[in-house]
Amino acid sequence: MSLFNLIYTGAKTALELARTAVTDAAAAHGADKQVAFPGTAYALPVIYAATGSKITTLAELQGALEVAGSLITEEEDLDKALQAGLATAVCAEIIEAVKYAVSATPYNGDDGIGFVPDAVIRSLGVPLVTGDIPGIAVMVGEAADSAALAAIVKDYQEKGLLTFLVGNVLGQVAAAGVKTGLEFRVIPVGREITAVIHVVSVAVRAALIFGALSPGDLEGLLAYTKERIPAFVNTFGPLDEVTVAAGAGAIALGFPVIADVDVPAVPGALLAQKDHGATAATSLEARGIKIKIKEIPVPVSFAAAFEGERIRKDNIYAEFGSKRSKAWEIVKMRPAHEVEDHRIEVIGPDIDAGKPPVYLPLALVVEVAGKNMEEDFEPVLERKIHYFLNYMEGVMHVGQRNLAWIRIGKDAFAKGLRLRHFGEVLYAMMHDEFGSVVDKCQVTIITDREKVLSLEQELALPSYKARDDRLASLTDESVDTFYSCTLCQSFAPAHVCVVTPERLGLCGAVSWLDAKATKELNPAGACQPITKTGLEDGRKGIWTEVNKAVEECSRGAVSRVSLYSILEDPMTSCGCFECICGIIPEGNGVIIVNREYSGTTPVGMTFGELASMTGGGVQTPGFMGHGRHFIPSKKFLAAEGGVARIVWMPKELKDAVAERLNKTAQELYGIDNFTAMICDETIATDVEAVVDFLTAKKHPALEMDPLM
Ligand code: SF4
Ligand code: ZN
Repeated sequence: MSLFNLIYTGAKTALELARTAVTDAAAAHGADKQVAFPGTAYALPVIYAATGSKITTLAELQGALEVAGSLITEEEDLDKALQAGLATAVCAEIIEAVKYAVSATPYNGDDGIGFVPDAVIRSLGVPLVTGDIPGIAVMVGEAADSAALAAIVKDYQEKGLLTFLVGNVLGQVAAAGVKTGLEFRVIPVGREITAVIHVVSVAVRAALIFGALSPGDLEGLLAYTKERIPAFVNTFGPLDEVTVAAGAGAIALGFPVIADVDVPAVPGALLAQKDHGATAATSLEARGIKIKIKEIPVPVSFAAAFEGERIRKDNIYAEFGSKRSKAWEIVKMRPAHEVEDHRIEVIGPDIDAGKPPVYLPLALVVEVAGKNMEEDFEPVLERKIHYFLNYMEGVMHVGQRNLAWIRIGKDAFAKGLRLRHFGEVLYAMMHDEFGSVVDKCQVTIITDREKVLSLEQELALPSYKARDDRLASLTDESVDTFYSCTLCQSFAPAHVCVVTPERLGLCGAVSWLDAKATKELNPAGACQPITKTGLEDGRKGIWTEVNKAVEECSRGAVSRVSLYSILEDPMTSCGCFECICGIIPEGNGVIIVNREYSGTTPVGMTFGELASMTGGGVQTPGFMGHGRHFIPSKKFLAAEGGVARIVWMPKELKDAVAERLNKTAQELYGIDNFTAMICDETIATDVEAVVDFLTAKKHPALEMDPLM
């Protein structure tokens, strides 16, 4: 059969399967049966993005079948064949949607995770834009050789890629002992080929969430995925027609397909690579993904993909910190002559001195010197210790400063990991990531009890305190420079964050100090200084220079921003915000929801639904994405009266910000224990009950000027 024949046959087969699935389900459950995927504000995302219509019932799926059918012609034309590929994608989504319509949990156990919720996609925004996740691999089929397959997955994992598994590869990879799950960046999706749509759905929703694409703009959608989503497909084993047709759909989205069997080559789109040892290289090249290789002399794997790995109790070889001992860490700037580059010293017993589990106190002292180094960068570098140590397979790092807690697993010890290797990792990574400020770096690792405790008093605690004092004194008034951050533009082309001491980037990952350090590390990079001049309105946070910078960075899309207002020219959102706040007219204030909260809110929407109201670098008065740390700031909603406008938050978020928020409310309005007046889901989520609660508590928002 020719390639065209295969695609058309596959597309027609998929259409028949979809039609049967819908007809059978309608016969069993009625045509009015609800159809929805869990945890999304985008209905059936592929159909929604391609056609603009939100499907909610089995009956409406009939219409989608017609659309899919109309895309399947039989012409010997590449564009037409790719259309049939898209039709196959639509059919796959229909088939998977029917699964969710007739069962609450169509996926469980080792079947994979199925549909990926919006919140997960939003959380992937930052790692994707920073290149921390350099690409997305979709592995489909069944490999003849499980070991070779596992080696490819492991290779992707070590390179930081996000890998999705569809088909029998799922069981093969798990059986080969590769760690899977979102935290390991290897995601088992489903065993049937139609499950591949859950990966397509991720790419499509990225376009809607970050790219602010209009639903129905199919052309724009295809351009977005092709240009901005660095994904590719690897197929294993013989290809049936449906897989080929689905592959055509992937190609239409701009994702090259690399097969391990003979296929008619379509340059840049469909390639054969029978040598599994070369699959990764061929794939990365086809998609134009470049990987920065880090060669660090440690006996275990080192990759960002191991960041989320946990070491359980029964697997501990050594532990530092937590209940049994003290562990702290610090980065200090020193004069050049006091630092000997690559000096790594261990003072006290190493982990092979006793029998497991080994409990030791620990101090990690990283000293750096550099012409461009500043004391302000110390905490920026220090926060990275957490990541660098976690990247080692078999090492878990939690916490920071003198609340650090580290575990080394038995496997890692058996492979030869010792404390000295912590030094190697910290040394190499400080140079690698902070090369332009770190000229020299030395690491001292102390396990001697007396020394750990005495140095904590003499060195660590005073340094932490000095930094906290510096941070507390950093206000928007106290500096003459803000920073723009445009990192997220690779997904949200018009978005720009203005980062100030009191308002960190909406992702929560870029503080003013981070932005300042980023500018120093990469002068032409994503963070650029904005001189704070041309004050137009201090209460709303409007400066002429800020407006100019935003206009320039957004290439004219946004020309005015009020840094402290949600109603008048609020800052744009890209999509990866930690929290979103929105107006609740009945409460004359706002509710704030964090990404982790999955329940509904008093405005009748979930985080995901609220989040879908804004994003893509567009200003949406009344809705605003922001970082957690911005909430207790005196600048939060200052134009609308400040934090007194906050009437509802999930309890976890409220507790997390309580101390600082109460302090702010006390200073601004003289209110004690303000958070006791803020409603949460344990009190009420129904708007009337919320208002009753606010009234009973005499919440200040009720007395303020009407918000709208
Ligand atoms: Fe993206 Fe803003 Fe965070 Fe920069 S500060 S990474 S633009 S969300
Ligand atoms: Zn973002």
